[in-house]
Amino acid sequence: MKIVAASKILRANDALAAENRQKLTQRGVLAINWMGSPGSGKTTLLEALARYWQGKRSVAVIQGDVAGSLDAQRMEALGLPVVQINTDGACHLDANMVAQALAALPLEKGSLLMIENVGNLVCTAGFDLGEHLRLVVLSVPEGDDKLVKYPAIFRSIHALVISKTDLLPQVSFRLERVQTDLQRLNPRAAVFCVSAMQGEGIQELAQWLEGHQLRESMPL
Ligand code: MG
Ligand code: ZN
Repeated sequence: MKIVAASKILRANDALAAENRQKLTQRGVLAINWMGSPGSGKTTLLEALARYWQGKRSVAVIQGDVAGSLDAQRMEALGLPVVQINTDGACHLDANMVAQALAALPLEKGSLLMIENVGNLVCTAGFDLGEHLRLVVLSVPEGDDKLVKYPAIFRSIHALVISKTDLLPQVSFRLERVQTDLQRLNPRAAVFCVSAMQGEGIQELAQWLEGHQLRESMPL
């Protein structure tokens, strides 16, 4: 029997992730790892951002899902180059999967690469994909207790996007509680409140992302 320790797998992943990041940086491509629960609104937010950038920035997408290509079809409908990764049951993307996807994805110099991770707040946190920015999308119907319950992922991010804010009047979600929890876990992380359906906060988020283009990647 051969046993491989998880720490070894993660080390191998980190080395591959560093290669991905170097390749992307050389091409001036800003890569963003979008994480969040299933149903948090990641794809709908990416659609809204892609519409905002239409005609202004070139955007490409790597879509991670356990099965199917529903989200990739939505991105393709917007005219974006997209590669779908089917993880075949795995609950997160890893750097190797992203390396394969990059080989198949036409990337313009200076473009923005959106990597939508598999919906999951647990192990997505542990896998560096070679991105420059990590974000979590947390929708208000999910509840305001997620930072306390899944601290690791919130510690690892550059920004938290609170989504579906148009539903705030219908749910008991305390924005201040989330801000306080994030302040405790990760005081440097930015916070954005968005409603992709109503367009609230999209421009602010898009401009913040644009502001990171071609800058050095930030250490996590
Ligand atoms: Mg999705
Ligand atoms: Zn996983």
